[in-house]
Amino acid sequence: MAGNVDSAKAPPAPSPLRMSKFTTAKMRILITGGAGFIGSHLVDRLMEEGTNEVIVADNFFSGSKENLKKWIGHPDFELIRHDVTETLFVEVDQIYHLACPASPIFYKYNAVKTIKTNVIGTLNMLGLAKRVGARILLTSTSEVYGDPLEHPQTEEYWGNVNPIGVRSCYDEGKRVAETLMFDYHRQHGVEIRVARIFNTYGPRMNIDDGRVVSNFIAQALRGETMTVQAPGTQTRSFCYVSDMVDGLYRLMNGDHTGPINIGNPGEFTMLELAGLVKELIEPSAETKIVENTPDDPRKRKPDITKATKLLGWDPKVTLREGLPLMAADFKERLTGLKA
Ligand code: NAD
Ligand code: UDP
Ligand code: UDP
Repeated sequence: MAGNVDSAKAPPAPSPLRMSKFTTAKMRILITGGAGFIGSHLVDRLMEEGTNEVIVADNFFSGSKENLKKWIGHPDFELIRHDVTETLFVEVDQIYHLACPASPIFYKYNAVKTIKTNVIGTLNMLGLAKRVGARILLTSTSEVYGDPLEHPQTEEYWGNVNPIGVRSCYDEGKRVAETLMFDYHRQHGVEIRVARIFNTYGPRMNIDDGRVVSNFIAQALRGETMTVQAPGTQTRSFCYVSDMVDGLYRLMNGDHTGPINIGNPGEFTMLELAGLVKELIEPSAETKIVENTPDDPRKRKPDITKATKLLGWDPKVTLREGLPLMAADFKERLTGLKA
């Protein structure tokens, strides 16, 4: 019968999102902060698909061209030295907005610049998204929960954040960035996605960026003592970078605005983490307790019920599996085997 089309055999209709408004063939995707740790792994994922044109805008404050060197010169790849606190005019279908230093050492270095990046930078990217009709994803953070009074943290928890402390440029900055996202969504109909990222680790982290996993691995490999900040019983939940990139990709291409927690619920004290580095990477590594910094959250663990149900996502790589992968990359870079 003429009208009786077997829909099961019909080719799937292309998702409107996977078709560019600007080119017939490829999606054009902007990644701010794409020269950084998570951003560069996201670039790899999107470029390897072969169906995207990727533009990275980065001011190289904590990221580097080195992280992107395999794509430089590729016809579908473009790298722009650009600070997101300045306006940006490009035509894109999707924006992954990652630009912001993530390590406490980097974000405290110029606190005013960090808050400008979070507020003015996010405002500019939202203005861009509004003008071109792009979907925009913000990489917010578990830091919006501050020193949490609920454990584990669900997306409904409003947080316990010091508004005037040394971490505020980052955590309050991200809270304002989330507010801007939802106001542009409600007021201007911008399609938004908000990810709340929990501590992420893996190859390409800045060796000396001061975060705990990079510090412990670099110290262990250099024969230095691992610096556990007091009391050492504070906890974090560590997500391997390939799992994180997969979560961000699913959030961007799914139907839910978020906020959605993306992280690995495996929870470890800093003393346990140091113990794992000793066991898996360098048995001779020693540990010492050193002074902590103000406002350090005492515990952190994501409730990922939403990510699992709404995105079909759950982390695959355990800390035991991920630490040696990261250590191999650090070893190569520290011994100069890899530039
Ligand atoms: P990163 O420091 O390696 O990357 C950030 C990138 O943004 C760098 O390439 C940096 O040069 C760039 N950048 C900073 N300020 C900029 C500006 N004003 N204009 C343009 N570029 C700028 O950090 P990361 O770990 O890859 O984090 C990426 C994103 O994920 C950040 O938004 C961070 O807040 C968020 N996040 C990360 C973690 C984590 O554990 N890594 C946890 C929570 C949230
Ligand atoms: N913006 C940008 N790129 C664009 C469109 C806007 O950087 O393609 C900036 C714009 O300069 C402004 C911000 O985004 O600083 C917010 O733009 P919006 O249009 O929402 O607000 P307005 O310009 O009306 O203040
Ligand atoms: N930390 C530590 N030794 C270090 C660096 C950090 O014990 O050399 C601790 C820090 O006190 C915090 C935890 O590790 O409790 C995570 O710190 P990081 O800076 O990696 O991330 P964030 O505080 O942003 O979660």
